[in-house]
Amino acid sequence: MSEINKKLRKWRINPGKVIIFTFLFILIFNFLHTNTVFAQDKLKCELCGKTSWGKYWTYDNATYCDECYKNYPHCYSCGIPVKDPIILDGEHFCQNCYSFKLPKCDGCGIPVHKCWIKKDKNGKISRYCRNCLEKFSDKCSLCGTALIGRYWVINSTIVEGPRKYCEQCKSKGKKCFFCGLLVSPYAKPDFEGRFICDGCSKNLIEKSYDYYPVFDSVKRSFLKMGLKVNNTPTLSVVGFKKLKQLGESVTYSTGDKWGLYKCTKVITGTGADRSIFLKTSDIYVVSRLPRELAFYVITHEYAHAWYEERVVTSRGPVIDEGFAEWVSYHILKDHGMNYLAESLKHKKDIYGEGLRKLLEIERKRGSDGVMDFILE
Ligand SMILES: [Zn+2]
Ligand SMILES: [Zn+2]
Ligand SMILES: [Zn+2]
Ligand SMILES: [Zn+2]
Ligand SMILES: [Zn+2]
Ligand SMILES: [Zn+2]
Repeated sequence: MSEINKKLRKWRINPGKVIIFTFLFILIFNFLHTNTVFAQDKLKCELCGKTSWGKYWTYDNATYCDECYKNYPHCYSCGIPVKDPIILDGEHFCQNCYSFKLPKCDGCGIPVHKCWIKKDKNGKISRYCRNCLEKFSDKCSLCGTALIGRYWVINSTIVEGPRKYCEQCKSKGKKCFFCGLLVSPYAKPDFEGRFICDGCSKNLIEKSYDYYPVFDSVKRSFLKMGLKVNNTPTLSVVGFKKLKQLGESVTYSTGDKWGLYKCTKVITGTGADRSIFLKTSDIYVVSRLPRELAFYVITHEYAHAWYEERVVTSRGPVIDEGFAEWVSYHILKDHGMNYLAESLKHKKDIYGEGLRKLLEIERKRGSDGVMDFILE
């Protein structure tokens, strides 16, 4: 007879054994599935210390009476009933899970349940509690609240570096008339209805006569660049509304946002004998501009004056404005206003288009190539 048959014979079924096995099976099955057994022995509850009879619960060798099981909250992590749970983000934790199982905040070291993952520039991942997240997050440039989740990035046209804003400030804040950054929703407009940010406010040229030293500086820069303007235009500082009216009423002008150039041209002779004489030549610039902008606007308008003395008929707005921007671009760079200079390149209007076109010519044929192109 084989080994298997011998064993089978040994384990021959008899009614006594069936009853014992069935009882054992129910006991084990019950314990595995519900953690409950009906105890016949005295057991002490981990929480209330009472000796319990009847239904009780066990977790990792600890016993809990049914009453405590039902009355106390359960640990979110391991499930045991807890008398004094630690509450974290609305969930209950036992001391053990809180101290040893939960991950720790990389900022302050406290255990965290719901944590925020942040990746730094090098790709290193850190997890933070809400407090630390707020501490280590970028702040809204306007109201200072921590930027968590969605936020807005706005580039200034004058000052370097983008600014970040919270959703609230983006929706309610006003745009600075000059630099495009946001102004507090509580800010009041100035007498011309303009909202001006703190940065630009600090830098405004308040008095009209303070524009003249700026104009002198522009003139010197042109000479340095080899651009001589024969008939020096007048410079008038006007209100924004007045500038708008001037822009509408004049027939020959280059209308810009913060400045305007206007001239009356007399052309005599033809061909090589042709000469251009400017009977009037006037620059208008809006009052109370931030210093950098005033410098840029006057440079731009002065470039028109140089251009009009040499070009008989308009080359169209893209080239006319593009040239004024091209001169401004170089002079601003020469004065260390790189950011403002670079921002001219990114304008989406004809100003940007014209500048990009001339910079492309300059790249291929140098600045002399640009001059040849303008004067051809
Ligand atoms: Zn109990
Ligand atoms: Zn626990
Ligand atoms: Zn923390
Ligand atoms: Zn804000
Ligand atoms: Zn501003
Ligand atoms: Zn212009």
